[in-house]
Amino acid sequence: MAGPAGIEPALKVLETSVLPLYDGPVWCLVVGIVAKAPLFCKNGNVKKRIPVSRCEVCSKLGRHQYADLLKGESLPPEALRLAPDTLHTVLYKKVVTCPVCGRTYFQTKEVGFMEDDVEITRATPTEVGDELSEEDLANFYEDLNLTDDEDVFYAAECLTEFYLAKKNYEKFAELLHHNDPRVRLTAVVNGLAQKEKRPIIPLYEDVVKTDADENVRSNAIRLFSYNLNTQAHALDFLASLLDEKNKTVRYEAATALDYFARNKSAQAVEEALKKKGLTLARVAKTLKDILDSI
Ligand SMILES: [Zn+2]
Repeated sequence: MAGPAGIEPALKVLETSVLPLYDGPVWCLVVGIVAKAPLFCKNGNVKKRIPVSRCEVCSKLGRHQYADLLKGESLPPEALRLAPDTLHTVLYKKVVTCPVCGRTYFQTKEVGFMEDDVEITRATPTEVGDELSEEDLANFYEDLNLTDDEDVFYAAECLTEFYLAKKNYEKFAELLHHNDPRVRLTAVVNGLAQKEKRPIIPLYEDVVKTDADENVRSNAIRLFSYNLNTQAHALDFLASLLDEKNKTVRYEAATALDYFARNKSAQAVEEALKKKGLTLARVAKTLKDILDSI
C-alpha cells in the first residue's frame, strides 16, 4: 500500500506553485517584506537549451532551496551566481535568472522579528510571464525522454503549466496519460493547483480510476480531496471510490472521507454516502479491513 511518503514531493511542488500567492504574517509587513508579487521579466523565450542536470549552476540548486540565516544556514554557493549583489542584503521577492542557461527562479528574502530567511524556487517560463515558442515546446518534449529525474520533472512542469495557462486541456490530458509516471505525476500535482479547476476535475477522475501507477493514483486522490475539500461533487466522487477494486483507491478515498467527517462536516459526508446507500460505519470498516490486511 502506498504510504504517506508519496504526498511529500507532491505537496512540495504544490507549495512551490502557489508561492507567488504567499501572504506573509502581518507583523512581517511592519519590518517590511517589500514585494509580494513577483516581478515579471519579459526577456523573451528560454535562451539556451541545457537540461537542468547539465547546467553547472542549476544542477547544484535543486528545485527549492531555503536557508534560515539566523541559524547560520546558507544557500549553496551557486545561488550567489543568480544574484551576486543582493542575496544577503536587500528585502525583496523577485525573479532571478541563471547566467549559464537562462532558467528562472523566484527569490524571496524575509526579515522580521527573529527571522532572516532566504528562499530560491525554480520557476517555469509560464510562471514568470515568458512565452514558449514551438521550438521551446519541442525541446521540452525531447527532455521528457532524458533519464535524470530533475530534467524530466522540470520539462513536464514547463509543459503542464504552459498548456494549462493556454486552457489547452487536450494537451494537458496527454501529459496526464503520458507513458512515463514521472510526467503523469507532475501533471497531476500541477493541475489542481490551478485556479480554474472545473475542466480538470473529470480528467482527474479518469486518472484515479485508471492510472497504472499506485503513486500517481494516490496523489491524484489526495490532491483531489485536498483541493476540493467538502464540495458535494468531490464527496460524491470519493464515496463512489469505496467500491473500487483497487485497494489503494479504496484506502485513499476512505481516509479522505474519514478526515472530512471528523474535521469538517460529518453531515456533508453522510449525505454523500447516503446517495450510494453507504454509511460512515462502512468507511470505518473499509479502513479497518485494509489496515488489518497489511
Ligand atoms: Zn542554469
